[in-house]
Amino acid sequence: MATALRVPTAADDKYSRGVVALRTGSADYPGAAVLGVEAAWRSGAGYVRYIGGAADAVLARRPETVAGADLGRTRIGAWVIGSGTDAAHRSDNETDALQKILAGSVPVVVDAGALDLVAEAAAPRLLTPHAGELARLCTRLGMNADRLEADRAGIVSEVAEKLGATVLLKGATTLIAAPGAQLIAVSNAPSWLATAGTGDVLGGVLGALIAANPQHPIDETAAAGVWLHAHAARLASGAVDGAPGHPIVALDVAEALPLAIAELL
Ligand code: AMP
Ligand code: MG
Repeated sequence: MATALRVPTAADDKYSRGVVALRTGSADYPGAAVLGVEAAWRSGAGYVRYIGGAADAVLARRPETVAGADLGRTRIGAWVIGSGTDAAHRSDNETDALQKILAGSVPVVVDAGALDLVAEAAAPRLLTPHAGELARLCTRLGMNADRLEADRAGIVSEVAEKLGATVLLKGATTLIAAPGAQLIAVSNAPSWLATAGTGDVLGGVLGALIAANPQHPIDETAAAGVWLHAHAARLASGAVDGAPGHPIVALDVAEALPLAIAELL
């Protein structure tokens, strides 16, 4: 799992360490943008760009972030889109912009409100639904979503095959299916992780790891990211060595990521 993580060397600069761009958050959920950006930085990104309506909140929390829509100058290694957005409240302009990202050649982590835009395409895509979002995706693909409770593994694999994308189904145990690959299950999450905003943190983690190590198989990078996210939650909540631990908020998870990375390397 540690091989999915790349330790920087003297030959690296901020760009080669991974440029992540997030197009996340909305008027209703600006915090999702903040959480994803914080997590991308804390997961080792060399450069984090934010494009979207929550730039003020993002910069107040992380002034290191480059905000602005001019994407011409830096090569983006991974996109994170959709966290903290709702498809029903999206403008046509925003839909166009997201569709362009999905049609491009850069890997995209697709979460929440952007999941409804996914169709078969060439770029490597990592979809990160929770069970409700996967049920909606199944319905759109003409599959019977009622099977989801009884056959999570089967459904995740089927959606991955249908879309030619890697699908990561979040939950107490997170399942990751890539077309033609063995299903991966990651189950080190403490129950304290079930709290608002932690999925937005995961998006930032995944974007950073993919941008840092673009040659690595995306499902394995995703598994490392899920493990790190859950381990950071364990460290933050004190739920280690059999201790029950204590409540956490999503930002605690983002802040504990560096310690979790140190333990994995
Ligand atoms: P989201 O639903 O997008 O907010 O993401 C929720 C996060 O919490 C994901 O990383 C899930 O894997 C995790 N999660 C949800 N339920 C549980 C649970 N019962 N125990 C541990 N982690 C959970
Ligand atoms: Mg979510």
